[in-house]
Amino acid sequence: MSAPTAPALTPRGTSAAPVQANTEPVGTAALLQVRGLAKSFGGVRALQPLRFDLAAGEMLALIGPNGAGKSTCFNLLNGQLRPDAGSILLGGTELVGRAPDAVWRLGVGRTFQVAQTFAALTVRQNLQLALLSQAGGLFGWWRPASAQYRGEALALLEQVGMAAQAERAMGVLAYGDVKRVELALALANRPRLLLMDEPTAGMAPAERQALMALTQRLAREQGMGVLFTEHSMDVVFAHADRVLVLAQGVLIAEGPPAAVRRNAQVRAVYLGGASEADPAHPVATADGADANGAPCA
Ligand code: ADP
Ligand code: MG
Repeated sequence: MSAPTAPALTPRGTSAAPVQANTEPVGTAALLQVRGLAKSFGGVRALQPLRFDLAAGEMLALIGPNGAGKSTCFNLLNGQLRPDAGSILLGGTELVGRAPDAVWRLGVGRTFQVAQTFAALTVRQNLQLALLSQAGGLFGWWRPASAQYRGEALALLEQVGMAAQAERAMGVLAYGDVKRVELALALANRPRLLLMDEPTAGMAPAERQALMALTQRLAREQGMGVLFTEHSMDVVFAHADRVLVLAQGVLIAEGPPAAVRRNAQVRAVYLGGASEADPAHPVATADGADANGAPCA
């Protein structure tokens, strides 16, 4: 399944009004439809009414400076936070008001930090535990745990290129491989929508590209929509079909990576002042820092 044709970038003035997102692709409703999603913490308007769509099979990057509201958006989508206003439709089903586990069962997966795995167990055993917890007590208690979901666990590891390391202890894996296992864990409930908040944090540039290339392939193969944040603009430009740019809780730009890269307001947000648009240079450097050294996703 392929992503829809990306809409043209909507240039914005200095207005704080949110961008009105593209219309749905002809003939198909988007997998995810976010409308008027808003959240404040006390006086801080972390997310102002946000509207966007995400198609099955699409890679959508959410970028913006620290404090822009990216994690708040993720936590609203996965049910950890309840919005002040707005709607989140997944395949036409309203997610707002549902508990995180209910949202997860409806097909919203997310990558977990390795702290949530068991270092002394093997990679395969970690996957089996995730699958057991997914089954929610319906599994056959009369069978030894070691036998349950063994095949499924190995299949998931195969998908992320980790089958050869299935019997190694989780704790001895290289960092990039840990991230692959995190991805496999997230795939365990066969998500229709995968949320990845800074999935490549701490990774070397080449590893980042490899992990997101793998994610992109899985998105295409499985028709899974992916929303991700990413510091490296090189990764965003290589693997996102579309980019949403948040600044202080407001969507200031939306469009294909090349257009977002040239957008004057986006450049102003990252570089601290509007500059001549130069398509040869991304809005931020490849090592994940903007011109002022601040992380940018
Ligand atoms: P990002 O992920 O883009 O860095 P966040 O969504 O974490 O941004 O934060 C957006 C804004 O909301 C920030 O001003 C942050 O301080 C505030 N914020 C986020 N979570 C909370 C919270 N639980 N309580 C209070 N303020 C919060
Ligand atoms: Mg964040």
